[in-house]
Amino acid sequence: MDEEVTGAQLIAESLKAQKVEYMFGIVGVPIIEVAMAAQAAGIKYIGMRNEQAACYAASATGYLTGRPGACLVVSGPGLIHALGGMANANVNCWPVVVIGGSSDQNQETAGAFQEFPQVEACRLYSKFSARPSSLEAIPSVIEKAVRTSMYGRPGACYVDIAGDMVNAKVDRSQVRVVSCCPSPPVSLADHSAITEAVSVLKAAKRPLIIIGKGAAYGRAETSLREFVEMSGLPFLPTPMGKGVLPDDHPNCVAAARSRALLQADVVLLLGARLNWMLHFGQPPRFDPNVKILQVDLCPEEMGNNVRPAVALLGDINAIVTQLLEGVHKDGWKYPSDTEWWGTLKDKIAANAKISMAMALQSTVPMNYYTVFHHVSQLLPQDCIIVSEGANTMDIGRTMLNNYLPRHRLDAGTFGTMGVGLGFAIAAAAVERSENRNQRIVCVEGDSAFGFSGMEVETMCRYNLPVVIIVVNNNGIYSGVDPETWKEMEKMGDLTTIAPPVTLLPEARYDEVMTAFGGRGYLVRTVEELRNALQQSLSDWEKPSLINVLIDPSSDRKQQEFPWLTRSNL
Ligand code: ADP
Ligand code: MG
Repeated sequence: MDEEVTGAQLIAESLKAQKVEYMFGIVGVPIIEVAMAAQAAGIKYIGMRNEQAACYAASATGYLTGRPGACLVVSGPGLIHALGGMANANVNCWPVVVIGGSSDQNQETAGAFQEFPQVEACRLYSKFSARPSSLEAIPSVIEKAVRTSMYGRPGACYVDIAGDMVNAKVDRSQVRVVSCCPSPPVSLADHSAITEAVSVLKAAKRPLIIIGKGAAYGRAETSLREFVEMSGLPFLPTPMGKGVLPDDHPNCVAAARSRALLQADVVLLLGARLNWMLHFGQPPRFDPNVKILQVDLCPEEMGNNVRPAVALLGDINAIVTQLLEGVHKDGWKYPSDTEWWGTLKDKIAANAKISMAMALQSTVPMNYYTVFHHVSQLLPQDCIIVSEGANTMDIGRTMLNNYLPRHRLDAGTFGTMGVGLGFAIAAAAVERSENRNQRIVCVEGDSAFGFSGMEVETMCRYNLPVVIIVVNNNGIYSGVDPETWKEMEKMGDLTTIAPPVTLLPEARYDEVMTAFGGRGYLVRTVEELRNALQQSLSDWEKPSLINVLIDPSSDRKQQEFPWLTRSNL
């Protein structure tokens, strides 16, 4: 008799055959056996505490490795919790494959346990959503899900598994093996578009390169560095484009962001969308006549909000190499002594002065700038920085440098809070398995931490030495001090008077970590902060959480433009 395989084994073996190396999930009926089969197939299984965080983690491994992670969830509520992660992955253009257990075959619409129209529910949050109709169909459906998640614009895919298929068996000989799908095919931009783009670039008075997370995902760092250094052009990274080229590169004008965007006459846009994060590419944040040279692998993206002067459709790495040839041909280089470089450098110096003045304030409680100034001095250059929270993320972005590509993970295009711990767990799992030994530092606002705080148990359980820094201002955007809170308690019913932004003042998030055996620190001063961070960074066994109590009214420095300006649209 032939060897029999179960549905669970087929799912696990098919994922492994497609080089899916990580699975994050929460088990329960009907998918416990799938997780066990995944481990037996050599997939690393990380059990999380909430499906949302599991899905965030799975998508982060997709971004970090270029191959999707899997997220394994139970039916109904389990799958619904994962939708947030799918949406986030899809909006970020990160590959992830969600596997959801569901009601038995022929029980659909019968009122079964945790029954839900799961395939339909996932459609809005994914590129592909399907339920294999038989055990024999599992390998090809998994292959299609993995392939679709990576090809074209990356995103989320969903595979629904009928509960009774998990332990059902079939003869192995009846199942067609589907081999691993290759990496996505790479396409070059049209020759004439390259020629045109090169001539527009050469004619630019105030050129600017914008490096987005598409360039990070597309692993364009080597060609891009050569292009920037050969062409002499200034560049500006988006939040997750940070590190594709180091933040301290002489051509980086991040510290003059507003000025660079406002006055550039030609922008070479590499893997970034002209959405809210780039102020729609329009006035008042951009010159109304700016010429955009748009590089993207997604044709539908071309022309969103601004019609590009030249559309360069294809892979960023390939196109940068094409542009390099075009620029290099006659040895052209943008001069370093232009008025434009002068303007940018003046602005960089002026902004650095303001931030430094705020960083050197020696008040207790500390402000954001002081915290980030000292944190940035102590972090190793190769660490992966995960960051979320409103002020924490925004100020941290300007003060914490990245030196390596794909070493910053944050709330992203969807502005999702609660991603941090899942991302950090994913990064730590990838680091461990690739033996790179780079630190994972998770810089969280106190509100952001709360969304997935229980994942510290996951970190402790797997001994993932993540360093979490909670920049605690007692609230969302801002909070109140303990004395004010006590006064409010006396005044009456807090549900009617406590400002909705407030959280419990001086909450002991550090004790959440110590509860599970990790290291916890409560710090108020620069010295305490530095000591705690140094100790945390020297511990490779356990995670740490540093609860940094800052001034609850600390804010960003004066901004030139209000947040999310879209005044003339
Ligand atoms: P950011 O948040 O940095 O602004 P976005 O997520 O808005 O970046 O944009 C990333 C863009 O990069 C998407 O439009 C996506 O289609 C594109 N992209 C992803 N990978 C590649 C690649 N290898 N080559 C070209 N474009 C890519
Ligand atoms: Mg806060």
